[in-house]
Amino acid sequence: FLALDQIPIWAPSGPPAGSNTLHPPNEALNPKISLFRGDITKLEIDGIVNAANKTLLGGGGVDGSIHRGAGPLLKKECATLGGCETGQAKISGAYGLPAKYVIHTVGPIVQGRVGQRERDGLRSCYRSCLDLAVKNHLRTVAFPCISTGVYGYPPDEAVEVALATVRQYLEEHHAQLDRVVFCVFLKSDEDLYQERLPLYFPRG
Ligand code: ADP
Repeated sequence: FLALDQIPIWAPSGPPAGSNTLHPPNEALNPKISLFRGDITKLEIDGIVNAANKTLLGGGGVDGSIHRGAGPLLKKECATLGGCETGQAKISGAYGLPAKYVIHTVGPIVQGRVGQRERDGLRSCYRSCLDLAVKNHLRTVAFPCISTGVYGYPPDEAVEVALATVRQYLEEHHAQLDRVVFCVFLKSDEDLYQERLPLYFPRG
């Protein structure tokens, strides 16, 4: 298990933000962000987000790992949740996992190019998860790269939605959240986040 205090806070490197950042600096938000590469099921944190499917009954990828780690009671609880629509989220216990809760969300499926519908769907996933976290008094949450596996959302486009949505949400709810961890699994996603984070969470 990996406790949150073992995960470094993301610190923007390089010179102070110039004029080409996507958001003005807000250094109160930067200490609330972490980038972590590894298995989300190992995190000892209030909530981990699951990139689930509409049935909420388990699947491949991160969903499979979460269900394996949590054990059969997770599926039992999920079966009572009535499924989940794209862009929505549902919360459950985490059972055998070190996290306290699992927030299940269903990302958009991308076939061909990303359109407004898919972008809105992915943004809605991040917002719905954070809304559920706040509503249930979770102060620390980890996200996987929703939709970028078998659901086919191009990772280089998904990272923009993830960072923009979390930035905006933290501006609105900074008092209610202590940490948002972007839990990437692939080196290529780590590189993308390293590159794009300074544009959304720049230094002052
Ligand atoms: P989706 O169906 O939403 O595309 P996937 O599980 O297929 O979901 O992929 C989403 C992301 O989760 C991918 O970047 C994948 O590499 C990553 N992933 C897979 N297993 C784990 C894990 N144990 N912890 C964190 N991320 C994971």
